[in-house]
Amino acid sequence: MARTTPLDRYRNIGIMAHIDAGKTTTTERILYYTGKSYKIGEVHEGTATMDWMEQEQERGITITSAATTCFWRDHRVNIIDTPGHVDFTIEVERSLRVLDGAVTVFDSVAGVEPQSETVWRQADKYGVPRICFVNKMDRIGADFYRCVDMIVDRLGAKPLVIHLPIGSESDFVGLVDLVAMKAMIWKEETLGAEFVVTDIPAEYKEKAEEYHGRLVEMAVELDDAAMEAYLEGKQPDVDTLKKLIRKGTIASTFVPVLCGSAFKNKGVQPMLDAVVDFLPSPTDVPDVKGVDVKGETELTRKSSDDEPFSGLAFKIMTDPFVGSITFVRIYSGVLNTGTSVINTVKEDKERVGRMLLMHANSREDIKEARAGDIVAICGLKGTTTGDTLCDPAHPIILERMEFPEPVIEVAVEPKSKADQEKMGVALSRLAQEDPSFRVNSDPESGQTIIKGMGELHLEIIVDRMKREFKVEANVGAPQVAYRESITKTIEHDYTHKKQTGGSGQFARVKIRFEPLEPGSGFVFENAVVGGSVPREYVPGVE
Ligand code: GDP
Repeated sequence: MARTTPLDRYRNIGIMAHIDAGKTTTTERILYYTGKSYKIGEVHEGTATMDWMEQEQERGITITSAATTCFWRDHRVNIIDTPGHVDFTIEVERSLRVLDGAVTVFDSVAGVEPQSETVWRQADKYGVPRICFVNKMDRIGADFYRCVDMIVDRLGAKPLVIHLPIGSESDFVGLVDLVAMKAMIWKEETLGAEFVVTDIPAEYKEKAEEYHGRLVEMAVELDDAAMEAYLEGKQPDVDTLKKLIRKGTIASTFVPVLCGSAFKNKGVQPMLDAVVDFLPSPTDVPDVKGVDVKGETELTRKSSDDEPFSGLAFKIMTDPFVGSITFVRIYSGVLNTGTSVINTVKEDKERVGRMLLMHANSREDIKEARAGDIVAICGLKGTTTGDTLCDPAHPIILERMEFPEPVIEVAVEPKSKADQEKMGVALSRLAQEDPSFRVNSDPESGQTIIKGMGELHLEIIVDRMKREFKVEANVGAPQVAYRESITKTIEHDYTHKKQTGGSGQFARVKIRFEPLEPGSGFVFENAVVGGSVPREYVPGVE
């Protein structure tokens, strides 16, 4: 089979935002405008496609990181969902690892909120090129210009304003496109879904000229020839301007800033145009890096079908229709169903029985996936988040994802014997899906201790145990004082020949024995696993 979309027409993007800024609404409108007979519904009333799980809708937050494929102007746009709640910054990080560009959504009233700063810094860390969408321009108190100032003051970024709002609050009727120097006015009769392109209204002309001038100056700086022409008095044409803005965006020299109201369907199509025009394709970003299986030699894979197959598993979830699925970003090569690949982290073979492309409201069975694609593979056995899947003849371990240590812990106690049996299965499944969630058994109290990134994180885990695995459990503080009084804890370094949390490297791990007796429990302090103390690791015991 041939490639259906050229690689330079792929956009793997995330939508990042502070909770409530409008990420879900924006994503939903994108999925609407990109087709696939999808009906606009109100978010949080059971129709938000990205929010699969019941509890997400109840809580009004997005906690999963699904990927959805859609099309805009002959480009294939894969949207990787990034959660907005502070407890899930780890989920944001793993999304950032596999996307090539992002749209940051701000609330035009609240401006740059603390959580926006957090995700912004994370995106900086991963070098993700961005565009900004100043949303909720219809709200009372909306202030586009203040938001632009906050992008400078709070985020230290260089905004390149490419839209100016025409009116605001209930009079938000359109925008000025500062690249084409045209106005777009929405038709009220189609609730903003359609617009007319017209001349810039007289009262906006002066402001538009001023901002256009700034935009041109920032753009021509990126290219000597364009700068020279500009200094000779020649204005760059629209195509040249777009190319220069694309260059500066991909280099993160500046961030294009747009405005709209997702809820009122305003500004979403121009934002999609900006995704296609300015955000990078897989060929615009650096080659993915990795190491050989011994961790000795650095390797890279080009974003191309002609390279050996390599992909990174970045999310495991339970789909309500097809069961366990593993989302994989394919970096290089071609993957066919019915073939076997290796998981270089687990040192195990995996068979690819079935692959799906997730659309807004359908799951498409595909036989072949190529560099740049994000696919859901069904029924993988042992692959966890962060693992590399690749061509057995060309093994590589792709660059690691970093998972921070959990920060809080609680004890969970099953309510009945039946619950106890199911709880083990539930917790190990949940730990497999979520690398920032850990389970340990306290050898002294016999309690099961779960650890996570915050109260909400653990609350959701307990909630999922109940809903998905029908396990009733009580939650309480671990009996720490009791344990401390009767256990000896020593720290013992040894080189453990297993992977630590998908790091892709053999690592030196610290183990804590509690207590120091053969057969009693132990925990790896910086790894996911725990178990029983093997005799040979206890000094003085034969
Ligand atoms: P998320 O938490 O970032 O995913 O935000 P949501 O998309 O769930 O939006 C949060 C709330 O803001 C919801 O009640 C939305 O209906 C509302 N909202 C989203 N976009 C807009 C907008 O453009 N204008 C107005 N007025 N409300 C919006």
